Amino acid sequence: MNERRFRLRNGSWPIQAVKRGESLPDPSLGCTIPCMDTLSPERRSECMRSVRGEDTTPELAVRRLVHQLGFRFRLHVRSLPGKPDLVFPSRSKIIMVHGCFWHGHCCRGGRNRPTSNVTYWSEKLERNRKRDRYVNRELKRLGWSVLRVWECELRNESRVMKKLVQFLGDGR
Ligand SMILES: [Zn+2]
Repeated sequence: MNERRFRLRNGSWPIQAVKRGESLPDPSLGCTIPCMDTLSPERRSECMRSVRGEDTTPELAVRRLVHQLGFRFRLHVRSLPGKPDLVFPSRSKIIMVHGCFWHGHCCRGGRNRPTSNVTYWSEKLERNRKRDRYVNRELKRLGWSVLRVWECELRNESRVMKKLVQFLGDGR
């Protein structure tokens, strides 16, 4: 398996994983978008973006909400640990948008592990979680406050809005 395509920071599935017929969590649980050849061109390019780990649906949703609140931010800052999704330099704040499956959330979408290649997946997902913890620690050490938004939370946008306001503060 190619390591690169698992460097996802979101809940979408790598295209090859579906092609190879691996067993996948049930998308009706709300945390994944299966990528298949039968997708419309828009959905397929959405999947391709998700393979690169950027501009995923949950992340776009958070960006839209933050925009609505009137905040400006930088995207995917490569010079920082973990290439954080949304960076607010003047506030020293960072928002990370996490797919429940890939980042091992304690919700249904995160607990719903593939039933084949069990060892492979549990090791892979454990590495992701370790890396998340490391990135979090490093960012804090460098003086950043970090807010994590989970994919499943976006089912209730008004709650996420409140969380964003609380985190970012009032001044624009
Ligand atoms: Zn979740």
